[in-house]
Amino acid sequence: MVPATSGSGRSGSAVAPFTVLATADGPGIRARGVRARGVRARLGRLELPHGVVETPQFMPVGTNATVKALDPGDLEAAGASIVLANTYHLFLRPGHERIERLGGLHRFMGWDRPILTDSGGFQVVSLADARVIDADGATFRSHIDGSERRLTPELAMRVQEALGPDIAVALDHPVYPSRPRAEVEDAMERTHRWAEKSLAAHERPDQALFGIIQGGIDPELRERSTRFIAALDFDGICIGGLAGDETPVQRARALDVVVPLLDGDPRPRYLMGLGSPADLLEAVVSGIDLFDSVLPARVARNGQLWVPGDGEEPGRLNLRNAAFLDDPRPVQEDCPCLLCTQFSRAYLAHLLRARELLAYRLATCHNLTFTLDFMARIRAALRAGTFPESLAFLRARAGRISGGAVAVEPA
Ligand SMILES: [Zn+2]
Repeated sequence: MVPATSGSGRSGSAVAPFTVLATADGPGIRARGVRARGVRARLGRLELPHGVVETPQFMPVGTNATVKALDPGDLEAAGASIVLANTYHLFLRPGHERIERLGGLHRFMGWDRPILTDSGGFQVVSLADARVIDADGATFRSHIDGSERRLTPELAMRVQEALGPDIAVALDHPVYPSRPRAEVEDAMERTHRWAEKSLAAHERPDQALFGIIQGGIDPELRERSTRFIAALDFDGICIGGLAGDETPVQRARALDVVVPLLDGDPRPRYLMGLGSPADLLEAVVSGIDLFDSVLPARVARNGQLWVPGDGEEPGRLNLRNAAFLDDPRPVQEDCPCLLCTQFSRAYLAHLLRARELLAYRLATCHNLTFTLDFMARIRAALRAGTFPESLAFLRARAGRISGGAVAVEPA
């Protein structure tokens, strides 16, 4: 157990106070395909300069300062209380200094609720060309115009201070969980050095700073990384290097190493990159508070719509299927979204086949509404003290789709 940090500076935290309102501790409850383990789900409230975020919570991803195909009104209607924007993308285009001159990211994208910007590390290792990562940073060629760029922990802090999100994240060096142990360890050690440099470089007093745990799926590395990052003066703890190519069982085991070590730690826990309802629920059970992923929006644009599962149905409709061209029903009977309240499956199936732009907006509105409503149902069960009993229902509703089965490509 890591003692609650206290004393010096930021953690605790004055910048982003986090309150655990309820927990659902319970003896072993058998997850499907996962060995019996305790339920560590918790209900929380994260107070940020632009508003309060209730947890467990999902953050839609606005890669280029927009959640693809949606405007801020669509996001509010879908129930979003915080969005994520990508540091790497905004650094390359249109440039953090330009956004700063234009009044910061909130004003630039017309979103006045909380924003988190990610570290940039994931895109550097997954998108950029000809990257060379050394002790002090990463040199790479922009995937947009081929220009040579360099991102260091210090510059990643300057970029995020200029953008002005409520939460910034320290630059890390992620690797896929399946990489050799020596490679995972090397990237983890570099992430630790960069975490210290990020803390030293970060100056904005009105902005929270989260650090990232790495260590792949190796229990010993995960433990070392958890102890190292948790001992630093961050406002929140990100768990990186998962939601990649590991299995759900490997992910649950990694979280079973990390979360008990954070027991009693007053800071929020954010698992980066997880996005299918089934994966989100199991990570909540493991004790995670915050999530982000491009997955619900990406699969929506591909015609895959989340719907409640019932234990038999998998929880997904593929609107590319010709059978839907004659289906007058809404995608989901009781869904309050723009798509389901006004249009039929047949109409969306037609729009997708005709590659009409409205298809992307309607489908994305639905999948984000479903995802954010699902998180609200989880919170309601935690608030009512009925989460363990509600798990069977929530698991059926989530369906059986794991993100790895749908997409693992970078944003
Ligand atoms: Zn809907």
